[in-house]
Amino acid sequence: MYPDTNSSNNQTSSNSASSSRRDLRSFSHNELLELMDQLHQPKFRVQQIEEWIWSKGAVSFEDMSNLPKSLRESLNKRTVLQGPQQIARQLSQDGSRKYLLRYPDNTTVECVGMPSGAKLAVCASTQAGCAMGCSFCATGAAGLARSLTASEIYEQVIHVRNDFETRVSSVVLMGQGEPFMNYDNTLSVLRRLNSPDGLGIGARHLTVSTCGVIPMIKRFSNEPEQFTLAISLHSAVQKTRDVLMPGVRKYSLLHLYDVMGEYVDKTGRRPTYEYALIGGVNDSDSELGALRDFCCGTLAHVNLIQLNEVPGSRFHPSSPARAQQFVNKLGEVGVEATIRLSRGADIDAACGQLSQKLRQQ
Ligand code: SAH
Ligand code: SF4
Repeated sequence: MYPDTNSSNNQTSSNSASSSRRDLRSFSHNELLELMDQLHQPKFRVQQIEEWIWSKGAVSFEDMSNLPKSLRESLNKRTVLQGPQQIARQLSQDGSRKYLLRYPDNTTVECVGMPSGAKLAVCASTQAGCAMGCSFCATGAAGLARSLTASEIYEQVIHVRNDFETRVSSVVLMGQGEPFMNYDNTLSVLRRLNSPDGLGIGARHLTVSTCGVIPMIKRFSNEPEQFTLAISLHSAVQKTRDVLMPGVRKYSLLHLYDVMGEYVDKTGRRPTYEYALIGGVNDSDSELGALRDFCCGTLAHVNLIQLNEVPGSRFHPSSPARAQQFVNKLGEVGVEATIRLSRGADIDAACGQLSQKLRQQ
C-alpha cells in the first residue's frame, strides 16, 4: 500500500513511454463507470479503483490487489497511472523532506513534507513557476511554466504520504505558484483531499494561500467548505506592496481590505495574513502601524515569516528581535501574531529555491 520511492520512480519511467494512454486519475466518476461498462465489469469496480487511486495512493496497477488480474491488464492497456518522477529529495535535520518532482512533460515542481509528532503536514505546488513576479520570491523570478492539473497537485500529496508512510493531517497550498490563478484545479484538489473518498482531511486543515487575486477571493468566500484562507500581505503600505508584489498592483490594499471584510462576514472564518519581514523594507515603525491598522478590528491572524534569502537578492531578513517587537505591538491592539518557525531551512525550503539551484548547475 505504501510503496517506496524507487518503485514509484520505476512506475513513472515505464509510464512515460506510454503517454498516448489517458491518465487514470483524469477520469471522472461517470467516465470510470463507462469504462467498466465497456470492459464488462460490475459497477462496484469503480469504487474499488477510486479507492486505490484517491485514498490508498496506488502508483501501479499491480498495487490494486482486489481487482482481477484481467482487469488490471485491461486498465494497463487503455490507461496509465502517471505519478511524477522524483528527481531530488532533501532531508532536513528537523525531519522535513523536500522533493523535486518531474511530470512526464519534463515540468518540475517542489513539495515538502513536515512531520510534527504523529502529524504530517504537506506543502504542495499549484503551478510550475509563477507569473506574479513577487520580488522576494525565487519562484516569481523564474516566471510561469504552466498550471498544474488537479491530479498533478494531488499526486504531490500522495508522493509525500507514500514516502513518509503515514497519514497526512494537513495540506497547505503554499509551494510554487499562485493557486487563485489556477482556481478550478485548486478547488477540485481541496475537495478531493477533504472527501472521505480521498484522504478525508478536515477542511480547516486544508489551507490555500494567495497573493491577493481579488475576484477569486470573492469566489472563494462563496464556497460551502470551511477551507482555511491565507493572504500574502507582506506590506500594508501601498507603495511598498507595489514594489514587493507587482503582480497584484491592480488590486489596491483598500479593495483587499473591503473584500476580506466581506469574506469574514460571509464565512465567519479568520484569515491568516502572511508577512515576511524584510530588513529596511517592510519592518519600519510606519509599516508596523499600517499593518496594525489593516488588521485591527477585524478577524485576522498575522503570520510573521522569517524571509528565506534568495541567492543574489537585495532583500535580507529582519532580526528575530524585530519580529518579536511586531508580535508585541500587534498584541497590544488585540491582533494575534505568531512568528512562523522556519521548517527545513537547511534544505532551502524557501519557495522555489531547490529547483533554482538545480537549474543553475
Ligand atoms: N502564491 C501564493 C502561494 C505560494 S507562495 C502566495 O503568494 O501566497 C507561499 C508563501 O511563501 C507566500 O506567503 C509567499 O509570500 C511566501 N514566500 C515567497 N518567497 C518567500 C521568501 N523568500 N521568504 C519567505 N517567504 C516567502
Ligand atoms: Fe507567486 Fe506566491 Fe512567489 Fe508571489 S510569492 S511570485 S504569488 S509563488
